[in-house]
Amino acid sequence: MMTLSETLELVRPNIMRLKPYSSARNEFTGGNAILLDANENPYNLWNDDLIVNRYPDPLQREAKLKIAEIKGVSPEQIFLGNGSDEAVDLIIRCFCEPSTDSIVIFSPTYGMYSVCAEVNNVQVKEFILNNDFSINLQQFFNGISPSTKVVFICSPNNPTGNAQPIETIEQILSKFRGIVVVDEAYIDFCPEKTYLSLLNRYPNLVVLQTFSKAWAMAGARIGIAFANPKIIATLNKVKFPYNIGVPSLSFLSRAIEQYSNTKSLISQIVSERELLRLRLQQLSCVKMVYPSDSNFLLVKTTDANSVYNYLLNNGIVVRNRTHEPLCNNCLRITVGKPYENSKLIQILNTYRP
Ligand code: PMP
Repeated sequence: MMTLSETLELVRPNIMRLKPYSSARNEFTGGNAILLDANENPYNLWNDDLIVNRYPDPLQREAKLKIAEIKGVSPEQIFLGNGSDEAVDLIIRCFCEPSTDSIVIFSPTYGMYSVCAEVNNVQVKEFILNNDFSINLQQFFNGISPSTKVVFICSPNNPTGNAQPIETIEQILSKFRGIVVVDEAYIDFCPEKTYLSLLNRYPNLVVLQTFSKAWAMAGARIGIAFANPKIIATLNKVKFPYNIGVPSLSFLSRAIEQYSNTKSLISQIVSERELLRLRLQQLSCVKMVYPSDSNFLLVKTTDANSVYNYLLNNGIVVRNRTHEPLCNNCLRITVGKPYENSKLIQILNTYRP
């Protein structure tokens, strides 16, 4: 198990030394000042609740207080990014030395971990999940090296839909000498499977969540990284100063006010998912539907390319995952509105190989 100071030693030396950009407004904490520091236009052309002529709070303090309350963490354990994709990129840039260090991914999984690593010239060690989509721990511990700095575990995993059990996460957290990122983008569809409560025990844990999925705000671009306050401070040093815009923050606070509505929408989507599963399983072009903790289903078909094209020609877009490891002939289908799901089934019923 890593201590906090051992964890902080993983930060790249240039990032450790970095003195972040600071605006004059960071230095002023009173209210009602005359703001002549940031070369903004003093006139707000829009309505008064959306002050877009001024830069937003670089540390999104108000939003973090509200998120801290609903998630049961402290505001210092929260980083907000331009989607959780921003956090993926920042974690790699803070901990991995280009052309020297590596990250680990468990395939099939979300594609941005390896894209961000490759952009930063960081090597990707790819391990394939077991046939039941669990992690092969022995293969992982045998395959890493001292230059492996970050492991990404997607739970629930995209595109397989399953969450990883706590034993697996804790084995990795306690034995791996690096940063463990658990990407919980789909966690609101199975809230009991979150690993946020492990944060206080493991300084090397980063949990990612997002407002893009269950919270219905993909267009606002807001993602969260939860971690030890020292790690959060490191990510904050490296991020662009004003990474989340005023309109997005305004949507976020409205979404948090409507949290109970969102929760009932989420349970509707989860029941729709199970209904969709039953209906898909009855189709002759479907071989099996995998279990899911998320808002999508991984569906093994008789011929993914052909079913995919048939759906596309009928105006339905799904994700063809047939070229991903363990996903031969699989489509990933997002749970839509009830009439969209019915239309999907109706079209698939008329599919002929
Ligand atoms: N993680 C996973 C597992 C995802 O599927 C996605 C989006 N498809 C993201 C992260 C990124 O989400 P965002 O940047 O919108 O927060």
